[in-house]
Amino acid sequence: MSDETFDLCPPQALPAEQLLEIFRQLIADGSWQRYSGPHGTALQQLLLHRHQRQHCHLCCSGTAAMELALRAAGVEAGAEVILSAYDFKSNFINILMLGARPVLVDTVPDLPVLDPVAVEAAISPSTRAVIASHLHGLAAPLSALSEIAGRHRITIIEDACQNPGACLAGQPAGARGDLAILSFGGSKLLTAGRGGAVLTDNPQFAQRITLHTQRGNDAWPLSELQAAVLLPQLQQLDQQNRHRAAAVRQLQAALADSPAISLLLSPEFCSTPVNPDGIATAAFYKVALLLHAGRIARDELSAACIRKGIPLHPGFTALHTIHAKSRFRTSGSLTNATRLAEQLLVLHHSALLQPGAELRQMANHIRTLAELRHSATW
Ligand SMILES: *Cc1c(COP(=O)(O)O)cnc(C)c1O
Repeated sequence: MSDETFDLCPPQALPAEQLLEIFRQLIADGSWQRYSGPHGTALQQLLLHRHQRQHCHLCCSGTAAMELALRAAGVEAGAEVILSAYDFKSNFINILMLGARPVLVDTVPDLPVLDPVAVEAAISPSTRAVIASHLHGLAAPLSALSEIAGRHRITIIEDACQNPGACLAGQPAGARGDLAILSFGGSKLLTAGRGGAVLTDNPQFAQRITLHTQRGNDAWPLSELQAAVLLPQLQQLDQQNRHRAAAVRQLQAALADSPAISLLLSPEFCSTPVNPDGIATAAFYKVALLLHAGRIARDELSAACIRKGIPLHPGFTALHTIHAKSRFRTSGSLTNATRLAEQLLVLHHSALLQPGAELRQMANHIRTLAELRHSATW
């Protein structure tokens, strides 16, 4: 293998010149130092329109957005919230912070996707909500979950922090859950360094969010400056999602038939790459790669790739393995989630807008490193 290392430019959500022009305008009209103004309003309108929603609340982070969504759903002390044992840690902690109990269930085999059958089996009289996260370019099974939630009168909270602009069953991610959240955190596909949003059609949910955040002023705000840098990113999102999706297909081709590692994609994305009006069906904040059982450890492969300049990181740690057992309930076996937490790695989107040749080389490096270790005797 060559000694080449990759020198990926840190991802710039917008070119420097464009940012400077935005800042010049914010200074000229004074909006940078206002509590609220035209940029926040425009962002809210754009998100409402894109998701065909009735209410959009902008806030300071995706984590804050999840807390607001849980509060809106009426989650309080004694309630239970079902989520995948393979999920973003702050979703679990948010439930605890409200005095409620996380109920961890399994994923479907070999995919970071919540298993709807396991969700239904976990429902108790205390269940208030289910968190359905779209992770690593794969879609949560919202149709099945909505049907179950409807029968049991529980609320679906859709976590679309990782796939803004993705199109699922003909609708954008964030359009289908009773509540949905977005993140504008520093590493995300849409970034203002920090920020988030909650979307819903339910006026009572929207009112609870307003009651919690408005304390004479907005206690968890998104600033005019943040909104102003997000607006042009929304204009370019669909095009960039298409580029990233094409890159993922190249990676998949380069890793196909490897005995050591595979790239995880949802079946819908495999059969219909791009829908007829040109909107990518998947959005990749991170791409999931699954190691096959063998000698190889994901941390070791990640470290070897990072040394090469390839942003391949370990996936999530399984929630039932990092928290005291008294803090949560489990329902059913968690073997699939446990396996993902041992064998799943994620490639950050900064790798995906690289030129094709660079991308193929990166894929070859990952494949070679994985296969070397897969069969290694050391
Ligand atoms: C990033 C992320 C969030 C929210 O993160 P913030 O950094 O608080 O904006 C929530 N859920 C998932 C799945 C995420 O990836």
